[in-house]
Amino acid sequence: MQTYSHYIMTKAYERYAKKNGAPSNFPPLAKKALMWGSIAPDIPLILISIGFILYDLSQGNLAPPTPDGSGPQSATGYLFEYMFFNTWWVKAAHNLFHGPLMVVGYITLGYFGWKKNRVWGTPLFWLGIACLFHTLIDIPLHYDDGPLLLFPFEWNIRFYSPVSYWDPNRYGREFAIFEHALIGMMLIWLIWDWWRGRRPAN
Ligand SMILES: [Zn+2]
Repeated sequence: MQTYSHYIMTKAYERYAKKNGAPSNFPPLAKKALMWGSIAPDIPLILISIGFILYDLSQGNLAPPTPDGSGPQSATGYLFEYMFFNTWWVKAAHNLFHGPLMVVGYITLGYFGWKKNRVWGTPLFWLGIACLFHTLIDIPLHYDDGPLLLFPFEWNIRFYSPVSYWDPNRYGREFAIFEHALIGMMLIWLIWDWWRGRRPAN
């Protein structure tokens, strides 16, 4: 899914949890950590992409990648077509907060940190919860470019979903319509709920 969709869906949960409370055996809701966690999985690759795009711009390197990989290629094209699948630090950056085992690790560590009254426990727990929500949505929405399921223990296994949120050859166009209808409704609900909440109750 698009990064902003993850943010809006998590915002809807935050709004819900603020009113109805988080599950009682969870640490108290840490709103900022939750919202950062909704986009944290995508941030490392966004930063790397910005670096590569700036490099391409500085080099006047704007040729689109050729379909068979031959001919001149932008560094950004090379990043997504080759490095994403083969370069260890790009794979590590992508899976730092996408890898389901990593994320379960953050949740577990945060939970025990909270139990032991460490200040970082609660925010780490909620950051991990939002990352888990993000990656559980991402896994069924990527064909060959999804999260590494067993990272950091195994660096190649992904779930090959028949649906890709971006690839028009794998229902990407249809999914994009569904995705934007869904987050559109959530946005309307969020704005309506915020509007209602700002007036004193009568
Ligand atoms: Zn993602």
